[in-house]
Amino acid sequence: MNLEKLKRVGTIKRFAKGDFICYEGEIGTEMFIILSGQVGIYGNSFKGVQEKFAVLGSGEFFGEMSMLDDLPRSASGIAESPVIVLSIAKENFQLLIKEMPDMAFAIMTGLSRRIRRLEAKLLEDCNEAPVVAKAIEEAASVKVSEPAPAETPATISPVVKTEQVVAIDLLPEGHKHYGVVAPETHKNFYYEKQVTCPVCNGEFITKNPRMTKIRLERRENDLREVYVDFDPLWYNIRTCPYCLYSENYNDFDKIKRLSPEGLRSYQEKALKLHGKVTLPPPEPLSIDRVFLSYYLAIYFAGDEQENPLNIAKLYMALSWLYQDVGDEELYRRSWNLAFDYYYQAYYGSSKAKLKPEHEQQLCLILGELYLRKGEINEALKHFYGAIRRLDGTAFYNNLARDRYMEVKEQRK
Ligand SMILES: [Zn+2]
Repeated sequence: MNLEKLKRVGTIKRFAKGDFICYEGEIGTEMFIILSGQVGIYGNSFKGVQEKFAVLGSGEFFGEMSMLDDLPRSASGIAESPVIVLSIAKENFQLLIKEMPDMAFAIMTGLSRRIRRLEAKLLEDCNEAPVVAKAIEEAASVKVSEPAPAETPATISPVVKTEQVVAIDLLPEGHKHYGVVAPETHKNFYYEKQVTCPVCNGEFITKNPRMTKIRLERRENDLREVYVDFDPLWYNIRTCPYCLYSENYNDFDKIKRLSPEGLRSYQEKALKLHGKVTLPPPEPLSIDRVFLSYYLAIYFAGDEQENPLNIAKLYMALSWLYQDVGDEELYRRSWNLAFDYYYQAYYGSSKAKLKPEHEQQLCLILGELYLRKGEINEALKHFYGAIRRLDGTAFYNNLARDRYMEVKEQRK
């Protein structure tokens, strides 16, 4: 880059750290090429909060959009260190194209890349909170890598910041897009409610099942409850559309009682998802969104051994949903994982916390899953265990007895 040539087409301007180089909303009549220092690009995101979009360094440029289209600037440029820029007025831009076609080409390339990035961001921002926790706001800025400071004008490099993407594989291998949407009849059995996310404080509308209104049709051997014209499995998990925190709707607010440190671990988990997961729209509610909400709930529940039963139930629900969409493989994977967690819950150290009826239920479900695994003796042992529990409920006693007899009968 020829500095002498640049000086012919523009004016050198100096700014102290913290100075505004240009303001969001003003009509831009000039663009800037950074000769030295760092410039933070700030603007209002779609969620209405001030956000740092990027940090630009020597050789990079900004302000060209407004200069070219005569519309108000979409962002402010603030000096993050002492900054020297070359300001190029609109009337000199043609001269620049003529004198320095390489430079003009770099600007065009940079522009198109920015547009692409903006498009991606737009999609992502549809998932962002109107009010977000500070930690989550920070995420937006840490995503942009800081350019290495350079003191002398370097060659103009197109403005591309490669983002450090940490892959989070929430969905298992083989998980598909199933495309099924909630049947019309569901509408009669839920109500909408505005809630506040305990992780990011975002407010959103959620659908709560009306458990008092629904009618149980039958209970499967694996204890799945089938209701008339409704399936609460679709509504059990509440997901914050902004930070993606997900949990059973009954327990969604539980973490409000946590200490700030406890809450922070959830915010950190939310941060790791930032910009990497796109939640399908809430309306029409699709099974794809429901699946994702379960995997998010499992992600937020973590690996801590404290709540194996909670995780077991999430996997069991997933297995039923996979059963509904006819995905045999993931159905099997899900109930096998459910089995592992049920097993931990029943035989692990957290067993002491279980209520008698839950213990009985667990024993019964382990029997059923052992049966599926083809381990008949273990199945019988667990059914028998559930029959023997006199402090459980009669319903489970009877179900366990029926299953025990059926399996014995089949084995003959
Ligand atoms: Zn949230």
